[in-house]
Formats: sequence, structure tokens, C-alpha cells
Amino acid sequence: MSSTRPHHVAVVGSGPSGFYAAAALLDADLDVRVDVLDRLATPWGLVRGGVAPDHPKIKSVSAQYAKTAARDGFRFFGHVEVGACDGEAHEPGCGRVDRAELLERYDAVIYAVGSQTERRLDIPGEDLPGSIASVDFVGWYNGHPDHAGLEPALDSERAVVVGAGNVALDVARMLVLPVDDLRATDTADHALEALARSSVRKALVCGRRGAAQAAFTTTELRELDKITGLAVRADPEQVPEGMADDESLAKGTRRNLEALRRWATTEPDPQADREIAFRFLRSPVEIRGEDRVEEIVLAVNRLETGDDGRVRAVDTGERETVPTGLVVRAVGYRGLPLSGLPFDEATGTVPHAEGCVEGCAREYVAGWIKRGPSGIIGTNKKDAHETVRHVLADLAEQEPSDRPSLEDTEKWLRERCPELVDQAGWESIDAHECGRGDTDGRPRVKVIEREEFVRLASA
Ligand code: NAP
Repeated sequence: MSSTRPHHVAVVGSGPSGFYAAAALLDADLDVRVDVLDRLATPWGLVRGGVAPDHPKIKSVSAQYAKTAARDGFRFFGHVEVGACDGEAHEPGCGRVDRAELLERYDAVIYAVGSQTERRLDIPGEDLPGSIASVDFVGWYNGHPDHAGLEPALDSERAVVVGAGNVALDVARMLVLPVDDLRATDTADHALEALARSSVRKALVCGRRGAAQAAFTTTELRELDKITGLAVRADPEQVPEGMADDESLAKGTRRNLEALRRWATTEPDPQADREIAFRFLRSPVEIRGEDRVEEIVLAVNRLETGDDGRVRAVDTGERETVPTGLVVRAVGYRGLPLSGLPFDEATGTVPHAEGCVEGCAREYVAGWIKRGPSGIIGTNKKDAHETVRHVLADLAEQEPSDRPSLEDTEKWLRERCPELVDQAGWESIDAHECGRGDTDGRPRVKVIEREEFVRLASA
């Protein structure tokens, strides 16, 4: 035990919000050391496992995180699962630690664990083979170990993507892009192989509300213009002339409407052999099929503005049926409860005041588990800084700590998690992946298997 050790903070989760929190802690005037813990062997969260592989520029933000990781006072410990076994004994070698144990060793714990699961549609047929959640599909093409075995049904010409957000756009693009366009990316090898055999040539993106309520960002939408051989279609009745001129709409919305109107009124390149079509005012009400998806039934909606000013979709009772073998549900992510921490079921987040977990001293949240699955990567910087301001203020008021030394804590983590991957281990994995990428003309070739991570990390 040491009474003079520096402040020691655990950040659980190594995605953007975890890294922004770590960097802000290391920037502080106080002497703070940071351990970033992750259940995976690899850091960077959604930057590695979520951002679409054809967006290498967005993924390049990882260079900033690598700089943070190289700073004095930073340690990474992968293959450390936190709080996953309520009530079970935590034996040496179990690979898990729990919340109370972290609080015994660290002066503060920031949970930056993101939104790890899907929002459900709660409609009949949702779980038929061929109906998949975007969290699984995105994880699959990005080589996330939890989703690598997905085997999506890619044998029909048309896929239906439910949702009108940026994830729906990512999914639609990844489904229809010619595989040769992906060969220079870090798309997982198993996904490249499956996409090379894919019959999908058309993606129908369905939004439950109108074109003006879609959650796409304009850059992501306009990017579709740059894809050779892609026809983009929208219904002129759903994006009528003049809609984009409505000055009461946000600037981004008006730009989206301009793009959609252009696609609705311009004949696509007759040579185009791929298609993304947008259909608004459609909600899925049933997914049908004998033993796999064969069609999706969409309710035709009209819009109504509620007393709160929010525009709602209201079912007109009319139905439309679209034949398809693949439905991807891209209707948003959802946080999972962390054992012992309060949880708001309605929002899928941990209740907090500016990042301080309600009723839990020395515990904090940052990122999507704090504010829900919204915003772009950079949004997490401001979010993490707000949390860290409180962490630092609380640390400054704490008595000198008699908690275990940094060395003892590392020893404990290694005993409990024998497959632990530290920063040096991750750098070996990274070098291996990037080295294979150099040979293939790709940013990296991803490792998927746990044993392979452990082998490379200890090589
Ligand atoms: P999102 O932006 O919240 O979009 C979710 C979509 O699903 C909305 O269109 C929503 O419609 C719809 N939806 C929700 N429940 C539904 C239901 N029961 N039936 C039908 N539709 C339903 O979420 P996301 O696309 O998962 O993206 C998450 C965050 O990551 C966003 O902030 C996004 O911008 C960001 N992101 C950014 C990028 C990028 O910058 N390149 C890429 C990917 C993701 P309503 O509006 O009607 O609720």
C-alpha cells in the first residue's frame, strides 16, 4: 500500500469517449495515472468496430488515440471484462473483475462502455433468419469478435434497411458497394469473401417519418454521388419541389432535401448496376417467411405534429409488401445495464449529473452510456471533458489514497485475467495487422480469434 501514490483512475471502455477522458485526465495539473480497461484485446471501440471500412479518414482519428496511449501515465489492459458476473465468485484466471473491486483499487472509475446492443422493433418475424440488427452486421464486416460468425443472408437481389440514420446509410453502402471497392479497406476477410459472393445489388432504405425528419448527415448522404455505378433513387412525391426551400428547417435538413430531390428528379446513369433507394413514411409491421425472411410488410404513415412540437409518424392503415431475403434493422443502439449501477430502461443510459453517476460516489460515465447513441465521434470529446472536470474536482478533494499501488493493481489484473493484453501486447497485434495490410495494400488485416490476439500479444 502506498499513501503517496498518484491519483489512479480506471476508464472502462477504450472507444472515443474513453480515450478523450484518458487524454483529459493526463492533461490535468494533478498527478493522475490512467488505466484503460477493455473486454476486447483491441482498443478504439467503434472506431475499429463500428465506423464503416470505406471511411478510412474517419478511422484515422485512431492516430490521436495512439498518441494518448504513448503518454506517461497511460496503461491499456485488454481482455479485462468488468462487472459481468453479479454474485459469482471471481476466481483468479476468470478474466473478470467487478465494480466493487475496481472501487477498492482506483480513486475513480469512469464507465465509457458505449451502447452495446440494438433497439428492437418488436414486430412479428423480427428474429427470422435473414433479419439482423445493424449492431451485428456492422460488427461482422468490421471483424468484431462477437459478430464474426454472423453469416448474413446475401442471396437475394434486394435488401431492406430499416431506419433513416447514418448507420442505415453505412449498411446500405456496404451491401451494394462492389467488393473490389472494399479490397483496399480493412473490411474483415470473412466479410470480403461473403460480399464477393453476394447477390445483393439493391438496398431499400426505409424511414418511418418523412424526408425532412431523416437523421442522415449531409456529408454522408452526398457521398453516395461519388460511388461509380450506383443509382440513387427517391420518390418525387416524398420530396416535392420547394421542400428544401423551407427556411424554418435546419440547414442540414435542407441540404439533405436538396440531395434527395435531385435524386428524385434525375434519371440515374443507365449503366448503373447497383441501387440505393429511399422510401419515407414507412414503418415495418411484420417480417414474413416460412423459415427465413421472404418479405417485409410496411405500414404507410402520415405525419402529425404533437403538442410537444415533435413530428410523429401515424399509421394510415395502408400496407405495402416488399419481397426480400435480408432485413437489416438500423434503428439505433442501446446501452446495457452495468451490474450495480443505476440504469434508465427508457433511454438505455446510466442516470447521472454531468457525468457523475447518481448515488454512486467516485463513479462516472462518459459517451453513449451517458447521453445515449447520438452525435459523431468528436461529440464525445466535449462529453468526456465535462465528466473529467468533475472527476478532477473530486480527486482534488480526496484524502491521500491508501489504495493499492499501480504495480499491485496491475499484478491483480494479470492474476484475474491471464489472457490480459497490455499496451505492448496491443502494439504487437497492431504491427502484425498493419504489416499484413502493407503486403495487401490495405490499412490493416484484422485478427479476429481470441487465441491469435493472445499469441501475438505475448510474442
Ligand atoms: P440514429 O441517427 O438515431 O437513427 C436511427 C433511425 O432509426 C432514425 O431514422 C429513427 O427514426 C429510426 N427508428 C428508430 N426506431 C424505429 C422504429 N421502431 N421503426 C422504424 N424506425 C425507427 O441512429 P444510428 O443511425 O444508429 O446512428 C447512431 C449515431 O451514430 C448517430 O448520431 C449517427 O449520426 C452516428 N453515426 C455517424 C456516422 C458518420 O458520421 N459517418 C456513421 C454512423 C453513425 P425516428 O427519427 O423517427 O426516431
